[in-house]
Amino acid sequence: MSTMHDVIDPSTEQAFTSVRGTTVDQADAAIERAHAALASWRAVTPADRGRLLRRFADAVDGATDELARLEVRGSGHTIGNARWEAGNVRDVLHYYAAAPERLFGRQIPVAGGLDVTFSEPVGVVGVIVPWNFPMPIAGWGFAPALAAGCTVVLKPAEITPLTAIRIGELALEAGIPEDVLQVLPGKGSIVGQRFTDHPLVRKIVFTGSTEVGTRVAADAMRQVKRLTLELGGKSANIVFADSDLEQAAATAPYGVFDNAGQDCCARSRILVERTAYDRFLALLEPAVKGVRCMHPASEEAEMGPLISAGQRTAVRSFVEDAAEPVDVAFRGTAPDGPGYWYPPTVVLPRSDRDRVWREEVFGPVVAVMPFDDEADAVAKANDTPYGLSGSIWTRDVGRAIRVARGVETGNLSVNSHSSVRYSTPFGGFKQSGLGRELGPDALAAYTETKNVFIATDD
Ligand code: NAP
Ligand code: MG
Repeated sequence: MSTMHDVIDPSTEQAFTSVRGTTVDQADAAIERAHAALASWRAVTPADRGRLLRRFADAVDGATDELARLEVRGSGHTIGNARWEAGNVRDVLHYYAAAPERLFGRQIPVAGGLDVTFSEPVGVVGVIVPWNFPMPIAGWGFAPALAAGCTVVLKPAEITPLTAIRIGELALEAGIPEDVLQVLPGKGSIVGQRFTDHPLVRKIVFTGSTEVGTRVAADAMRQVKRLTLELGGKSANIVFADSDLEQAAATAPYGVFDNAGQDCCARSRILVERTAYDRFLALLEPAVKGVRCMHPASEEAEMGPLISAGQRTAVRSFVEDAAEPVDVAFRGTAPDGPGYWYPPTVVLPRSDRDRVWREEVFGPVVAVMPFDDEADAVAKANDTPYGLSGSIWTRDVGRAIRVARGVETGNLSVNSHSSVRYSTPFGGFKQSGLGRELGPDALAAYTETKNVFIATDD
């Protein structure tokens, strides 16, 4: 039995459309069609596969505004962010469109013959996407997978299916053959679970919470499926007293409140060298109060609402509804009235055991704490099971490099908060994930190395 799911506009709390969930039988049939499509997709010449991916990229580019407006309405993303997100799908497709013609093997010197390796597609890839970045996270999975010669079944989050469904249509319009990229909206417990259980799915790309991800990994491992995991984060923004404090404070809100803090890379812990702590907080206050939290369709908007009522309840449980008292230093503003609004909020934990310091809030809440010296900064930054991103603010190049080498995370930025570039690897240390997406090496995660020895001796 399929069920309908209402898609709610987080800015109005009103349902504006509904999407039919994929059933177990439909998911199985789609997986079987994806498997059947492998042989013909693989047979498309490398140059033609690249050409098709470029046409797909161009189709996404042509639909940027339509996709962006869908994401504003269906996910509450600001229009500026949503345009960037659609553009990111285009760019990732363009980047991997060059890959089919560069899927090199090696020739290895051996006695008695010729030894060569081939990068073979792993097969059907199941991509499982969370609600926080529906477009980019889908593209980071399907673009390299298609380039490698795999076929893809993709499950968007149940609550944010619209842009992925549209991108699936654009793929067909661009000439990607039927069944090579199929978008299957629905529940994780139904569609996602079929990806992990069905033997014809040979690889899972999962982005989401560490809790669900570890379960998906255990299920996938029963069939030794290939696995890429992108999970949660509790990243540190480390501010040294010798940094450009004005710039560090002015940009810190955007390193954590972007997408209303629903970002696995959010720098949700700010560590400030004790001698600069008071001055930093004084500079941070006007920066936080200046964040333009408003209807996300406005070109001025820097932050929109949270995704859902449930997410707002979860965020409140870290601050006003916390079991232990939480000290709020100051807050920005958010609209009144309908919509899952939550203002940018700065808290001062009483100890490094506080829940708001340790757990991922996934909302616009940042905790600030002082540190004493470089070693203390690195120790505090690493005192978490996560390791996804982070920032370091200092004018001392040697220190920047030492601290960057010391912090156990996959993506660091110095005097900046950038995390993701399609041409550089992205992924987590520790419980933030397994494997890397994007960049020059992501293809390896969608291919198997095959070694072939050909005897030449008579
Ligand atoms: P989630 O609850 O873990 O869900 C992620 C996806 O998994 C959804 O599509 C979900 O389906 C599906 N799912 C649920 N149960 C499943 C099962 N048994 N088998 C297969 N799939 C299943 O995460 P979320 O709440 O959407 O997103 C928030 C979390 O994602 C945060 O913790 C955040 O840090 C993390 N995240 C990490 C990254 C990264 O790159 N590291 C990026 C974005 C988000 P439903 O639609 O039914 O829920
Ligand atoms: Mg969830």
